[in-house]
Amino acid sequence: MGDKVNVCDVLVIGAGPGGGNAALHSARAGLSTILIEDHPAIGTPVHCGECISDVACENLNLTLPDHVVSKRVHGIRVIFPDGTDKKLSESGYVLEKHLFERWIADEAVAEGASLHLSHKLSSMEKIHENGKFTGWLCQGKGEHFPIQAKVVIDASGVGGVSNKLLELNPRPQVIAGMQYEMLEVPTDDYLDFYIWPKYVDKGYLWMIPKSGGRANVGLVTEDKSRTKKALDEFIQDTHFKELEQALPQWKEKGNPAFGGTIPISGPHSITFDDGLMMIGDAAGFTSPLFEGGSHLALKSATFAAQVALSAISDDNLSNSKMSEYQKLWSEEFPPYPKILKGKSALFDLSDDEMSLMARSFPDEMANMSPLTKLAVCGRIFIRRPGLYLRGIIPAMLSFGYSRAKFYGW
Ligand SMILES: Cc1cc2nc3c(=O)[nH]c(=O)nc-3n(C[C@H](O)[C@H](O)[C@H](O)COP(=O)(O)OP(=O)(O)OC[C@H]3O[C@@H](n4cnc5c(N)ncnc54)[C@H](O)[C@@H]3O)c2cc1C
Repeated sequence: MGDKVNVCDVLVIGAGPGGGNAALHSARAGLSTILIEDHPAIGTPVHCGECISDVACENLNLTLPDHVVSKRVHGIRVIFPDGTDKKLSESGYVLEKHLFERWIADEAVAEGASLHLSHKLSSMEKIHENGKFTGWLCQGKGEHFPIQAKVVIDASGVGGVSNKLLELNPRPQVIAGMQYEMLEVPTDDYLDFYIWPKYVDKGYLWMIPKSGGRANVGLVTEDKSRTKKALDEFIQDTHFKELEQALPQWKEKGNPAFGGTIPISGPHSITFDDGLMMIGDAAGFTSPLFEGGSHLALKSATFAAQVALSAISDDNLSNSKMSEYQKLWSEEFPPYPKILKGKSALFDLSDDEMSLMARSFPDEMANMSPLTKLAVCGRIFIRRPGLYLRGIIPAMLSFGYSRAKFYGW
């Protein structure tokens, strides 16, 4: 560790999508910005299915360069237990996610941010001058520590380093995700999401097509001990059995499986403190049904950069000033408890009930008019009135809330 203290306006912890974008927007606003990343390279190991919607890109003003895009896709096809499939057609991209994250960090550097790889933050201490909070003194592993910052933006992902160090919230509940890259996978350019409780009780499986016939075939499940077994069983029992598994491009050797964990207990009740904001997975921001988090991470990053600029300009880094951040995200992001209720209701249905619900949906679920929703309710009522007592309405709504405009992907 060096003796010299590196001083900056904003220290961003973690160079995932959230951290890269927070550094980009902070630097672009003229704030002196340091972005640190624990790993020696950005974006690897990949822990993502790698998809992002057009709606997200528009909402974030992102014009993706060609090299970060793997494939254009038409939307999501949800496949229910009896094989019934329904579409949520909203176009978007499958990314080469590590290249995407590197591109955002490069953009941040081009705007003046300093990027330090192999830098792991391990402690943070408040600095007060004449009783007033003036910033954080941060220590860790890496030659540019110690770092003194007026504002820290914690984008450290599901591990949430500031939350852990400062004990601001209980540790979040998590769901485990794992996938393989497979070759020569048949596709019509939809993301296939299988809600098949036979393999994963409270989760789902996917095929996310990529360029050159590649695809991510994976799952998320609350039953962490069965993650790999459940994925292998699914592959054995389906057309994926015939296909070859490959090491992804970014992985030179080792096990072909890759993945990670995703927070599922919803946004932390405390996402800020004096001169501190948590964004993305570190704040618990994910979409409950399909667990997408990149759009939320990228958007919360812009809010955090905006509040950092305002706080530093006003020379007010206090807790009450930083509360503007919580106000911004809570007004923008969809109601997590409501969607979670729908997800729980969905997973409480039997396979048969879920399939019956699906058969009552129109083929295209993306933009159901009030009249269509009424017709769906009518069909379900005629076929199985008792389903209303089993929470079928919230279960149906959870699909609506999984659309891109509600930060579903
Ligand atoms: C299997 C799987 C599939 C998924 N599929 C999708 C999908 O298709 N679409 C989607 O939108 N979302 C998906 N997600 C969720 C998505 O990956 C996350 O929500 C998103 O990456 C969150 O971004 P982030 O910047 O908050 O955190 P992360 O991407 O986790 O980045 C955090 C970074 O912080 C670094 N870090 C951690 N601790 C420290 C420290 N102490 N010091 C310095 N650096 C540190 C980490 O190394 C990491 O690079 C998936 C997740 C999983 C696990």
